[in-house]
Amino acid sequence: MPDDTEPEIDWDSLTFSFTQTDRMYMAKCEIGGEWEKGAMKDFEDLVISPAAGVLNYGQGLFEGLKAQRASDGSIVLFRPQQNARRAQEGARRLGMPPVPEEMFLDAVISTVRENSRWVPPMGKGALYIRPLLMGSGPILGVAPAPEYTFLVFTSPVGPYFKGGITPTSLRVSDKFHRAAPGGSGGVKAIGNYAPGMIPSKMAKKEGYSEIIYLDAVNHRYIEEVGAANFFCVKDGVVSTPALTGTILPGVTRSSIIELASSRGYEVREEKVDVEYAMEADECFCVGTAAVVSSIGKIEYGDKVSEFNGGEVGPVTRQLYEELTAIQQRRAPDEFGWITEVE
Ligand SMILES: *Cc1c(COP(=O)(O)O)cnc(C)c1O
Repeated sequence: MPDDTEPEIDWDSLTFSFTQTDRMYMAKCEIGGEWEKGAMKDFEDLVISPAAGVLNYGQGLFEGLKAQRASDGSIVLFRPQQNARRAQEGARRLGMPPVPEEMFLDAVISTVRENSRWVPPMGKGALYIRPLLMGSGPILGVAPAPEYTFLVFTSPVGPYFKGGITPTSLRVSDKFHRAAPGGSGGVKAIGNYAPGMIPSKMAKKEGYSEIIYLDAVNHRYIEEVGAANFFCVKDGVVSTPALTGTILPGVTRSSIIELASSRGYEVREEKVDVEYAMEADECFCVGTAAVVSSIGKIEYGDKVSEFNGGEVGPVTRQLYEELTAIQQRRAPDEFGWITEVE
């Protein structure tokens, strides 16, 4: 039985950091076999071979989604089917057995249910859900591991950017790239993230919230903002980098595209030249963690652009308000994006 007592946690001081919760889901699969029926268990450390594929060669991927307390008191997920499908694509790219969509959804829903006391009150944050798929069996040669583990754990989180709604300032990286054509940038491979830690840390030390990555071929087109997707607005046209394989296909990105189109904006998925973005009226980045975050300022080489006087722009604000209203059930679920957990 899930624990129903109120956790000892100050909901008002939540940040985007790890807090251990009660239960986790785990399932295994032998290579070439079927996924066994997974099970819920108390949150605990893993026992894993030092020769595990994931530890030696990074054979693994993760997902990230949120359970939120809605205005009617229910606990809801936002488009979890999209995460299930993206994880399947990633599994294929990384030589791992894809987790069937139904199994993925059952695992996510069960894990939220059994940790429901950790879902923050509406508006205070969310229960972040972290599915992980990895090669857990031992292997010495660089090849797919003999055994795979799929697990799901959760953590209550607050806002991703410390500044909250206040626009962030970003710097375009002239030295680092996140992904190259033909690589793994289009999937949530665990190995994609460590190389961004030092660039991100350096930018933060110099007062920026994150860095903007340009494409690795022309060093000219915007790809992503750290681990979030980029948008800009100019003369009422909303632009976002097209999915070329080096950009992670964000669930929030596709939702913002649909939402903005339905509200009458022209939305273009195209190459976004950094020079064009520097001249935009508004810029923002989107992701499960960041939701919709306004960008106040971008530094690129020796140029600095401030957008909308450094304040949150009207289109950014509208899309943020409308998306979060749907996510929290303060507005009708007109696109069929909400899955109720309980
Ligand atoms: C997860 C992620 C995103 C955002 O995707 P969502 O599905 O919206 O959370 C964007 N870029 C990168 C690199 C990511 O890993």
